[in-house]
Amino acid sequence: MPGRRFSALALRGASFAVLLGASTLPSCAEPPNLIVILTDDQGYADVGFNGCQDIPTPNIDRIASEGVRCTNGYVTHSVCGPSRAALITGRYQCRFGASRNPTIDPSIPNNGVPKDQKNIAELLAPRGYRSMAVGKWHLGTHPDLRPLVRGFDEFFGFLSGGHEYFPHKLTLRDLSEVDKPWAWYRTKLLRNETPVETTDYLTDELTNAAVEFVDRHHEQPFFLYLAYNAPHTPLQATEKYLSRFEGIQDGERRTYAAMVSAVDDGVGRLLEKLTEHELDERTLVFFLSDNGGASNNASSNAPLRGHKSSPFEGGVRVPFAVRWTGTLPAGVDYEPAVSSLDIAATIVTHAEASVPTDRGLDGVDLVPYLSGANRDAPHPALYWRWYDKHRLAARIGEQKLIFLPDDDALASDGPRLLYDLSRDVAESTNLVETRPAQADAMRQAVMEWNQELVPPVSPRLGSWKPVSK
Ligand code: CA
Repeated sequence: MPGRRFSALALRGASFAVLLGASTLPSCAEPPNLIVILTDDQGYADVGFNGCQDIPTPNIDRIASEGVRCTNGYVTHSVCGPSRAALITGRYQCRFGASRNPTIDPSIPNNGVPKDQKNIAELLAPRGYRSMAVGKWHLGTHPDLRPLVRGFDEFFGFLSGGHEYFPHKLTLRDLSEVDKPWAWYRTKLLRNETPVETTDYLTDELTNAAVEFVDRHHEQPFFLYLAYNAPHTPLQATEKYLSRFEGIQDGERRTYAAMVSAVDDGVGRLLEKLTEHELDERTLVFFLSDNGGASNNASSNAPLRGHKSSPFEGGVRVPFAVRWTGTLPAGVDYEPAVSSLDIAATIVTHAEASVPTDRGLDGVDLVPYLSGANRDAPHPALYWRWYDKHRLAARIGEQKLIFLPDDDALASDGPRLLYDLSRDVAESTNLVETRPAQADAMRQAVMEWNQELVPPVSPRLGSWKPVSK
């Protein structure tokens, strides 16, 4: 197999050596807490730990500098809903039909993550975890699919895929008042199942809820799923954050920067709260974006090609860092490919939680890999499918294959695109003619994986119609 460059634990700090011998078994007598901080449409280049120059993110950067920066961190789809469905279940979303952004129609069963799939909160509940979802849900609006019936003890946020940020714009009581597409951005926030009046900028409201949850439940194992919708459109920020970026001339980029900065403040408050309760060594913290930066929010995925919705790296490779103080090394870069699928596998391993044998996880426990105990690559292959566009992709080693239907607009260079990411991270040179055997083998592999998948269970987002009254 060419391209096996699975070297690459690059040491940026001094604590790595002492951790090489760390046990790969659960290291805490108490099961660890899990915090997943998920941003929305944030660009690969738009965090300090990936070199961002114009938007300081010192708090987000702490997760990388006090933990591990994963330079090849992937999500399983390049738009929100399918990516989140995989993250929250630890399974490729196309195995259970969550292959599209779900519509926001609460009357459609299985319009999200179907009930027969277990999410992280449901897997952890038997182990005594308290779980809260904060922010963007986007995993189903049907009453059977909402957070409180899907393993979460608490919810604060909104059920749809995007939202207005200013409280005065939240003029609809709930989804039943939505009378036209995208009006769901204006529903009031939910505290559990109840619409509530809010007064702060949305990102700050979400941070408040997350910090309060840790205050309430720091004495028991917890799972906090903090899904900021920033910096997804609409581009909206308060003067508090905008004033930090007067040097950015482009108005959209300035607002985007302010939105990222608000998230960074929130991450800082959350990390401080963990330290206050002496939870740093008992808490596994992941930071990532749900997909690459979008073409409409002034984000940057440089040097990657493409953006949100694309099969190129800019769609699926995201800012990704993980911290577990005392268990993972600090200040280390990890280069082999990792996935959002690994979050569930990591926590269930260290929580010693059970997984249904007929619905196994697609990820792996990252701890032995990130700690250096296991020098193999975590994933022999990673795969992607865009059902409606008939696109497939695979990454095997450093090779990336994108398999396109003949009528795909991206197929001007041919129906198969093969890149060597070790030399061409920008996916500029199609090697399918020069490495035909490699391309054929990868096509075979991704087609075999495709055979394991099912069709979508959700109608397309664009099919939404107002409920007749
Ligand atoms: Ca997104």
